[in-house]
Amino acid sequence: MIVVLALLATALLSFIWLKHWRASWHTYIKKRHGLMCTNCAYDMTGVDSDTCPECGESFDASEAKQRWSEYLQIYPHFK
Ligand SMILES: [Zn+2]
Repeated sequence: MIVVLALLATALLSFIWLKHWRASWHTYIKKRHGLMCTNCAYDMTGVDSDTCPECGESFDASEAKQRWSEYLQIYPHFK
């Protein structure tokens, strides 16, 4: 019985953690208006370069906005 309760508690806490993590991640993306590296999610706000300083990936602002917008649609924030 205690094992079943422990498993249920673990599942519930995992779900709560996942929900909180996803909400935080969505907020992070929206606050940056999608101006993030599509390879490593580095915040490119204010970076005057077409290369990500974190991973070296080429960066195109309009393409990044489009891809992050698609990401938010594919993985919607569940409430
Ligand atoms: Zn990067």
